[in-house]
Amino acid sequence: MLSNIDPARSNPIILPVDKIKDKYGRTFQTIRLSLLPLCNFECVYCKLDDGYSKIKVQKPEYFIEIIKKINKIIPIKKIHLTGGEPTLYPYLDEVILGLKSIDVKEISITTNGTLLLKQLFNLKKVGLNSINLSLDALDDMILKKMGTKKDIEFYKILIDEILNLKIPLKINSTIIKGYNDNQILPLLEYAGERKITIRFLEYMKMGIDDDLHKKRFFSMSEILNTIQMDYKIYELPREIHSTAYYWITNTNYKFGIIANHSKPFCMDCDRLRIDSSGKIYGCITQDKGIPVNSSDSDIQIQNKLKIALENKQLIFNGSNHKMHFIGG
Ligand code: SAM
Repeated sequence: MLSNIDPARSNPIILPVDKIKDKYGRTFQTIRLSLLPLCNFECVYCKLDDGYSKIKVQKPEYFIEIIKKINKIIPIKKIHLTGGEPTLYPYLDEVILGLKSIDVKEISITTNGTLLLKQLFNLKKVGLNSINLSLDALDDMILKKMGTKKDIEFYKILIDEILNLKIPLKINSTIIKGYNDNQILPLLEYAGERKITIRFLEYMKMGIDDDLHKKRFFSMSEILNTIQMDYKIYELPREIHSTAYYWITNTNYKFGIIANHSKPFCMDCDRLRIDSSGKIYGCITQDKGIPVNSSDSDIQIQNKLKIALENKQLIFNGSNHKMHFIGG
């Protein structure tokens, strides 16, 4: 299949889609779009850096135009809307409508959920396909210590409502040693009883120094050991491009671990990241984004995508950015 050719150029060299790959066969198929770097939480692992209060929020057309151009060069299968906190973005439904109009099949949102309840019905109506809800504990004291601004009763009501509306849901829990590692089993049981897949995330070294990261890091094997204290577990085959490795317990609870440090998925990573200012990143470990504009020609977009692809690393090396900046 050939990408569209830029009519503005007399001698365009648009590559066939199957040639836009790196030497490991990696390409882009999914986008993580950070709608804004602002967040209403102060998570212990992702506190907002200074200087974001005056940030300019982009209009939905801005993102849609950029993605439309990228989609012409490399067809995009799925877009994850994230941030910062994407439900703070004032035009969330317009972005979803716009992305659907350019034929993006699957749109999901990663959210702390605080503003989701009143938006749920409308977001489903405009085409939101699934939700990844971040929830790091079931205990109110621990939620507070993690930087969460809502209590567990709020989350239980929200989760019931998402399930009532039959919107596919996953729970993400980032595990920090000494903070919420004692919540792994209660979270697994809560999610498992409701047939919700839960994913435990290893703490990624982003925007913090080595020592603090080492002190708070709770590894994939520690997560597995914790679960095996109460359950027998069976590993499931890994789907290509999946961020997580999955297991099932003897009680039929499905859980995953996103182990960027212990077992990175970089070798078949298909993600392209777009930050809230329109810069693209081929890799979460990349500090410097490549600015993309809606006025770029197809050739320019193609070249920028190729540079982003060349920046893809083979291993996660940490990042100077916090997750809320680059989009988690
Ligand atoms: N505000 C939204 C939310 O809370 O889901 C979206 C953005 S948040 C950065 C996305 C996810 O990244 C959350 O599940 C959060 O727990 C996770 N996260 C943030 N910083 C992290 C880190 N350093 N290591 C691992 N996960 C992290």
